[in-house]
Amino acid sequence: MHTLENKTTCTIAAPISGDKILTGDRATGPLHIGHYVGSLQQRVILQDKYQQTILVADMQGLTDNGYHPEKVSSNILNVVADYLCVGIDPAKTTICLQSSIPALAELTMYYANLVSVARLQRNPTVKSEIANKSFGKSIPAGFLTYPISQAADITAFNGTLIPVGEDQLPLLEQTNEIVRKINAIAGEEILVECRALLSKVPRLPGADGKNKMSKSMSNSLLLSASEQDIKRVVKSMYTDPKHLNINDPGQIEGNVVFTYLDAFHSDSKYIETLKRQYQEGGLGDGHTKKILEECLQDFLRPIRLRREMLMNDKAQLLSILKEGTERSQDEANQVLRRVKNAFGLNLF
Ligand code: ATP
Ligand code: MG
Repeated sequence: MHTLENKTTCTIAAPISGDKILTGDRATGPLHIGHYVGSLQQRVILQDKYQQTILVADMQGLTDNGYHPEKVSSNILNVVADYLCVGIDPAKTTICLQSSIPALAELTMYYANLVSVARLQRNPTVKSEIANKSFGKSIPAGFLTYPISQAADITAFNGTLIPVGEDQLPLLEQTNEIVRKINAIAGEEILVECRALLSKVPRLPGADGKNKMSKSMSNSLLLSASEQDIKRVVKSMYTDPKHLNINDPGQIEGNVVFTYLDAFHSDSKYIETLKRQYQEGGLGDGHTKKILEECLQDFLRPIRLRREMLMNDKAQLLSILKEGTERSQDEANQVLRRVKNAFGLNLF
């Protein structure tokens, strides 16, 4: 068992020898700092010791963007650039494109026969996402069933350890249910169950403090944010509404500035001192925001510069994605073959 440590957040987790890391991101927009602390940072560490596959989930992005697909197609290379600019190394990590691996869609169709509509409707993540999106009565079947397609993604690469934010836990639980059903039909363990790897910041809130920072909620601070974006977002941040004067005692819980300082500042002792001062009174929100802004500017500046260079060579990004996708086909096809065998359908 290893303890992962890094400058800012990283994790107390339990990767074990032989773990296969599988994770992914919907291609619904450029990635944000919530992705970084929730998952990307872990992937950068894990790639040194474990076999890792990262999926750009473009088909899953379409599940709520079917009528404006350009939102997905235009973001595929953005996501690849975001991976590389934070330190994902394509020589160590396989980066692949969901829509170009046909076995994933086939597996989804087989698994779909084992999952009831009621079970999908009960999935807490799907439930809250439906509540937040304006589908009305027209929930796309693809959206309701995306947990099944996600189970296909994970199992196709024999993923055992999944570095994710906490919104993904119900989806991994549902994946493991499918794994057990398939294994029961096969009469042997042809698929492996997976475990979640949560970071110390499994759910970074948006600047308003209300919801999870998310590409779909316009509450993100992007990894590619400009200096001005960072300034604006920090300025707008939710603090303690009762902390009106500098000398008033302030509250830390729910104060997004402190949540972000905990997540991104490298000197936790200093942040603890600031917190005590804030709670006692005598520390203004302007001051804490200034410290946070400096910290985020320092953190994001080199990432932004690397990303700008990467985006100047889209052919290279495309070639990395194509190469990783080609490398992924074989493993996914082998899993598909085992699943078809379980259903007695490999006639030729
Ligand atoms: P969308 O709104 O399109 O669903 P998203 O911002 O939720 O986008 P995803 O692509 O769904 O991003 O998530 C990719 C990974 O990043 C998942 O493991 C998810 O749990 C993690 N993640 C996303 N947002 C956060 C966050 N605010 N805090 C921690 N982890 C996050
Ligand atoms: Mg999401």
